[in-house]
Amino acid sequence: MAAEISDAHADGVVLVAVLKGSVPFLADMVRALTIVPIVDFMAISTYAPESGRVRIVKDLDIDVSDRDVVLVEDIVDTGLTLHYLLAELGRRGPRSIQACTLLDRTSRRIIPTPVDYRGFEIGDEFVLGYGLDFAQRYRNLDRVVVADLAVLRDDPDAYVGALYGS
Ligand code: 5GP
Repeated sequence: MAAEISDAHADGVVLVAVLKGSVPFLADMVRALTIVPIVDFMAISTYAPESGRVRIVKDLDIDVSDRDVVLVEDIVDTGLTLHYLLAELGRRGPRSIQACTLLDRTSRRIIPTPVDYRGFEIGDEFVLGYGLDFAQRYRNLDRVVVADLAVLRDDPDAYVGALYGS
């Protein structure tokens, strides 16, 4: 993906990462690019899960008008978050806007959302690690693991012992 993005953006690119889940992926991505990106962050919060209504809680520091922008996501599931962000950034007059995601679960898509750079397609399984959390836990795992949501809902720390080796 880094090679593809570098090839497509020889003139430079603004990478907009969505906090917090995309941080490990972004860190690996930027170090694999062969161009010099500008990196900025947005944070959003969901009003109600599955509603698609989100609120920007941290906006970009830079102006993206006339810039080539690539949004960097950890996972695209229903597509509601990405759809909202593409529309929001699109209103700011970028020269181009694309989306990049580590994981893509197309089977759950509610809104058709273009994903230009995709790491892995996954199925219905809930995943944790490498930025992805449950109740703010597990983001610092160096790999992505499949977890049982029912177990996590019962005890958010259920996998700590097994995954952190303590
Ligand atoms: P969407 O708006 O596409 O439905 O959801 C995107 C967000 O849902 C992701 O950024 C992530 O925070 C969360 N999400 C969706 N699927 C998973 C998953 O399998 N594991 C975790 N940890 N988060 C997920």
